[in-house]
Amino acid sequence: MVTDDVIEELRRIVGSDSVLASYEDLYCYSRDASWYSGMPEVVVRPHSTEEVSKVLKLANSLKIPVVPQGGRTNLTGGAIPIRGGIVIDMTGMNRIIEISKINMICIVEAGVVLGVLEKELAKHGLFWPPDPASTDSATIGGILAEGAGGLRGAKYGTTRDWVLGLEVVLPTGDVINTGSATLKWSTGYDLTRLFIRSEGTLGVITKAILKLRPLPEAIVRMTAFFNRLEDVGVAVGKVWEAGVVPLIMELLDRGAIRSVNSYLNLGLPDVEAMVIIDVDGVKGEVEKQASRVEKILMEAGAFDVKTALTKEEMDKLYLARRSAYPSLFRVFKKTAIPDDTCVPISKLPEALRRAKEISDKWGVYTIFIGHIGDGNMHPVFCVDVADPKEVDKALKCYEEICRMVLSLGGTIAAEHGIGIVKSKLIEEECGGKAMEIMKAIKRVFDPNNIMNPDKWV
Ligand SMILES: Cc1cc2nc3c(=O)[nH]c(=O)nc-3n(C[C@H](O)[C@H](O)[C@H](O)COP(=O)(O)OP(=O)(O)OC[C@H]3O[C@@H](n4cnc5c(N)ncnc54)[C@H](O)[C@@H]3O)c2cc1C
Repeated sequence: MVTDDVIEELRRIVGSDSVLASYEDLYCYSRDASWYSGMPEVVVRPHSTEEVSKVLKLANSLKIPVVPQGGRTNLTGGAIPIRGGIVIDMTGMNRIIEISKINMICIVEAGVVLGVLEKELAKHGLFWPPDPASTDSATIGGILAEGAGGLRGAKYGTTRDWVLGLEVVLPTGDVINTGSATLKWSTGYDLTRLFIRSEGTLGVITKAILKLRPLPEAIVRMTAFFNRLEDVGVAVGKVWEAGVVPLIMELLDRGAIRSVNSYLNLGLPDVEAMVIIDVDGVKGEVEKQASRVEKILMEAGAFDVKTALTKEEMDKLYLARRSAYPSLFRVFKKTAIPDDTCVPISKLPEALRRAKEISDKWGVYTIFIGHIGDGNMHPVFCVDVADPKEVDKALKCYEEICRMVLSLGGTIAAEHGIGIVKSKLIEEECGGKAMEIMKAIKRVFDPNNIMNPDKWV
């Protein structure tokens, strides 16, 4: 329990202005982008690794739960302090410490917002490949702790492939450094990867060494239109089979298109499904690649493929994709429960068809906004969270889709983590023995179970 004495001690550690304990302040930290909530007892906003260490040492000695938070854009309830305790708001630790073009790395504090980093990197002609659609709010610490992916996952995978090392404060207050600022590294166990997608259950990430890439010289953006959702799955497979690696392939189905149109008045065509495709590379080559992709898509079932001819057109398409999920809240005035299942590309047509059938069976209005190029379908269930019957129905539909995906060799969590929403299902994917090992790892790092307790581990 957080007593007045604890709050006083926290004030001594981080300064009075950086400790929040009023109801109004605490309420702001009780939500993330999921539909769950839980009030912390106190919020601290540290400015340095040393302060994080002192906060954790104090919490550990008194067995007070601690939940690190970044931008609170988490979609699975992972950032919710369900047992009260201390929330550590990392957004004050937001320094970009180093950008090195020759080493192709940057070193940043965990609270740096990705959108801010992207702008700084662009000045050096560089970028960091992971790009969740929440770029303007999500922090590097949250992105790493979540193992987030994003639009460029088709070509670049997720966060785990783009982190070289971390500074982490353990629940005991000890500070460890994992990995190395080198492009290769094979010393001992890969603790860096252990912290990626640990969802704040093992320690607080305070710094990260990120691996960078040069910005592509040219990008061609296309849109392909389809009459049937499952044909999108076929087309994605054909693109991969042809040996083309697109930068992004993003699906918006009819529901998503209508939602974005009525939110932003973008005038996108009212079709069953559209896919936004980027191919990147050097000028001259990239155009050839694009016309190859266009041919493949037409042969694979698209009824039209258009190329964006101006920067404005390209930006409009990106805006459409990035706004698709937030637009649902505006348009339907309901909460959207996003699913994060992913299947091998060869199973995409079947998975899309069956996901739609399952949603229809449960009578849940479902919209597909997927990173479809990497098999990540993202059906989103539009329900009224104030109505427990609707939520119950949506969650049953969600579970059935997860089980269908597992039966196809897929995963229940491609990039949004487990959080609260999938804690019931994780064992079905990983198996009992693997869960035992995960729990044992948790005990090694966090014997008093103070870090983000009562979640999935
Ligand atoms: C509109 C929208 C679009 C999105 N699109 C995508 C997408 O395309 N791809 C994708 O992968 N995700 C997406 N997300 C989900 C979300 O943006 C990501 O999960 C993001 O990585 C979370 O970052 P954050 O800073 O908001 O973290 P938070 O939500 O604050 O925290 C996420 C988790 O990390 C832990 N945590 C936070 N900071 C630290 C730290 N420093 N050390 C240890 N643990 C920490 C928290 O305890 C929590 O468990 C989207 C979300 C929204 C709202």
